[in-house]
Amino acid sequence: MQVKELERVETGIFGSLYQMGHEQVVFCHDEATGLKAIIGIHNTVLGPALGGTRMWHYTNEQEAITDVLRLSRGMTFKAAISGLNLGGGKAVIIGDARKLKSEAFMRRFGKFVNSLNGKYITAEDVNMKTQDMEYISMETKHVTGLPESMGGSGDPSPVTAYGVYLGMKSTAKKVFGSDSLVGKKVAVQGVGQVGMHLVEHLVKEGAKVTINDISEEKVKMLVEKFGVATVGAEEIFDLDMDIYAPCALGATLNDNTIPRLKCAIVAGAANNQLKDEVKHGYMLRDKSITYAPDFLINAGGLINVYNEFLGNYNRKRALEQAEKIYQTNLSILNLADDEKISSQEAAIQLAEKRILEVGRVRIPR
Ligand code: NAD
Repeated sequence: MQVKELERVETGIFGSLYQMGHEQVVFCHDEATGLKAIIGIHNTVLGPALGGTRMWHYTNEQEAITDVLRLSRGMTFKAAISGLNLGGGKAVIIGDARKLKSEAFMRRFGKFVNSLNGKYITAEDVNMKTQDMEYISMETKHVTGLPESMGGSGDPSPVTAYGVYLGMKSTAKKVFGSDSLVGKKVAVQGVGQVGMHLVEHLVKEGAKVTINDISEEKVKMLVEKFGVATVGAEEIFDLDMDIYAPCALGATLNDNTIPRLKCAIVAGAANNQLKDEVKHGYMLRDKSITYAPDFLINAGGLINVYNEFLGNYNRKRALEQAEKIYQTNLSILNLADDEKISSQEAAIQLAEKRILEVGRVRIPR
């Protein structure tokens, strides 16, 4: 096939790679253990593609492919906007985590990761446990975000929450003219690992916090600990609030919820908060709701594992690096205003600009 014809391919898997800009996608299969995994390497201009491994019972292979492509692309932007020398990658393992996992299964996956010679670096994601990471690390050194018991950096959530908190403060600075959150009404949806630490920062500062979680136990614990208010799962979208902080699921900013929101700011930890990153980014802008791009303000976790990857991990240094989120977020919100574009688009533009510029430095013409 001639190059011209190749350029025109727009359907099938290569069509998706072309449209989303992926470098490489690796399909891994092992009959003996039943392992089926896909490693998506989106972009390695800035450095090796780092991103966690997610195990999920996908209903079909296309769903798994779509997930790995979408997630690995997101990692490229997250690393680039955070100023890290990392590219974007992600892996998905297809199947029921409760039925398929074994030492051999995870070690086989580790061998596949190792075969990429460090072009892809894996970490923990949904349905991966400490024991799984231990098995993977028996076969490859290209793994990070390990628990402290294995000499790693441990739980990244406090660093993520700190970054989200600072991102929220810099958004407040842009919108209210001051970054003080004293007396601001903040609704935190999801008080898991990140949400819980975020609530702590907010309460400490003097914000009026309302929480929601499907876990009654977690809600009860935080009400007792911090005296925060609570709200129902659906009512949260109609709440009279200054700031909405999605810290549970993705896609909570959509056709149904945006028209109901009464807040001035959306700033939270959840990945992929905008159901449609273009349409819903602009819907928020049209409603004069300022959105702190999720992939920027939740990058603390990535910053943390990057520090582990560099060696001589030090939590203080990781937290200091996460502080840059404040200024970067402010620059993005200003750029969005100047260019009259959504903050999501401004953040992607900035990330792409860095990849392009550093790429030119690395490959002089
Ligand atoms: P987690 O699993 O510890 O917490 C999620 C919480 O959300 C849980 O308490 C869960 O009960 C609750 N929840 C689930 N569905 C809900 C719903 N429909 N309504 C209300 N609450 C619901 O996860 P986490 O580590 O705190 O991460 C939270 C979000 O932030 C996720 O989207 C994650 O992808 C993202 N994130 C996390 C990190 C990190 O360092 N942990 C880094 C970047 C992004």
